[in-house]
Amino acid sequence: MKLAEKRARIRETLDRLIPDVPIPLEHADPFTLLVAVVLSAQTTDKKVNQVTPALFARANTPEALARLSVREVHGLIRTVGLAPAKSKALVGLARLLLEQHAGRVPRTREELMELPGVGRKTANVVLSQAFGFAAFPVDTHIHRLAARWGLSSGKSVEQTERDLVRHFPPASWGRLHLQFIYFGRRFCPARGHDPAACPICSFAARRGRADRRVKASR
Ligand code: SF4
Repeated sequence: MKLAEKRARIRETLDRLIPDVPIPLEHADPFTLLVAVVLSAQTTDKKVNQVTPALFARANTPEALARLSVREVHGLIRTVGLAPAKSKALVGLARLLLEQHAGRVPRTREELMELPGVGRKTANVVLSQAFGFAAFPVDTHIHRLAARWGLSSGKSVEQTERDLVRHFPPASWGRLHLQFIYFGRRFCPARGHDPAACPICSFAARRGRADRRVKASR
């Protein structure tokens, strides 16, 4: 199958199977989204959504969060993974927003990535979901799917992002990123799966390496 045909078929399949793409992390504005995305590293969105109501009841602005101690934040988020590091990052992030950005979430990737706890994926999520800018956040699940579907080499997450933004038009990135995530959650079991029966791998999977990797993971 030609690459252009494969890309179109992947998008058609995702639009058919995943028509709705709500933002999975509960938030009210760019700041609360930023906090939720920082909390989501190596943690499920469900778990983050369980702790953010109490956290945001205490601190839903940089001013309020900067007034809390790391210990107080830890007490509010302790059930999420990496809570000690995330508590420290969130208090530092709130203080930096006040010191350098007048309490506003910055709108460039470079400025976002200077904040504690914010890497490229987090910055891209905020740019896309808070501000509507064209960005394609790539996490490990999207990275794996892109390699299986022959859209990237699987060499690195950075390379996958470069490949995905080359394959698809900017206006589709925000939606596609969420469709990849929801597809993986709904269709990719942890083990014991037949690529021939997969709605996308059945026509898109790279022969050989990707198949072997799927089989090896069973
Ligand atoms: S074959 Fe299964 S595990 Fe692989 S991408 Fe398709 S749904 Fe996911």
